[in-house]
Amino acid sequence: MAILICGGAGYIGSHNVVNFINKGENVVVVDNLQSGHKEAVHPDAKFYEGDIRDAQILDKIFTENKIDAVIHFAADIVVSESVINPLKYFNNNVYGMQILLGAMVKHGIDKIIFSSTAAVYGEPERVPIFEDDRTAPNNPYGETKFMMEKIMKWVNLAHGIRYISLRYFNASGCIEDGSIGERHNPETHLIPLILQVPNGKRDHITIYGDDYPTPDGTCIRDYIHVMDLADAHYLALKYLRGGGESNIFNLGNGKGFSVKEMIVAAEKVTGQKIKTVIGKRRGGDSARLIASGEKARKILGWSPKFTDIEEIIRTAWNYHSKH
Ligand code: UDP
Repeated sequence: MAILICGGAGYIGSHNVVNFINKGENVVVVDNLQSGHKEAVHPDAKFYEGDIRDAQILDKIFTENKIDAVIHFAADIVVSESVINPLKYFNNNVYGMQILLGAMVKHGIDKIIFSSTAAVYGEPERVPIFEDDRTAPNNPYGETKFMMEKIMKWVNLAHGIRYISLRYFNASGCIEDGSIGERHNPETHLIPLILQVPNGKRDHITIYGDDYPTPDGTCIRDYIHVMDLADAHYLALKYLRGGGESNIFNLGNGKGFSVKEMIVAAEKVTGQKIKTVIGKRRGGDSARLIASGEKARKILGWSPKFTDIEEIIRTAWNYHSKH
């Protein structure tokens, strides 16, 4: 018996592959390598290069391997790009989910763990955000993830595929041995971009807007370590295997840091001054996203180990200073 990890060559996916293998799971990975990296996939995982929108490759994988559950990370994830090119997101994310679930129905696979996002909430009415708070995505990325959750809900009712949707806040950090990390091309995410300054790859970091309704005017996010996310996926798999009902969980530390605070923290970790430039707001950004992780703690028994922001950045710096 094995699990299929869709998007296992990407940042969050590759960390989950390592974690599941360390827990003794047999892991099969499918990834189209559009943004993932083949060398990031653990050598003990069986790798298929392919796209989840291709029903034939899914047929082949589900026929050649005895798959018990699917862990789904294969999606486009850049908020600003989704605002400019929404159809790319509806195609890869929403249509991809349709094809994947169709293949699961066909092959009788009844469990899926899905990487959702805080972006389903849009601009929240309050923080911390609870799972049953208002959902109102303010960018196509969040909208597609919300639609994917709804597709799973109806497919669950019709075909009995149980799902866990994990709404991550801001995935951050890297595995402690620094063997894999967060690497997008082009880079769009805050922590790797900040660290490119002390790394000598860029002259400064642009802060996207300092006129938000927050204490220092810059956006606040809840940064959660990627290995803590991986633990939540493992616990979610155990929960579904134990007969647990479909459910939705926020994953965050419950603490918010502004862009400016993140830069100061990175200066402490790297021991270097990081030059900043104030730029315009970026499309689709919410001012403040902070999770309540209470539900995941209560029901899944999840407890994040990385609660200190400098420690989280240190693990990212460990990777970025080597690569
Ligand atoms: N951000 C920024 N400068 C950058 C990249 C990101 O000011 O070069 C801000 C961005 O506007 C957001 C926060 O950092 O408020 C986190 O952005 P990221 O893209 O890492 O994650 P997101 O919250 O969009 O998922």
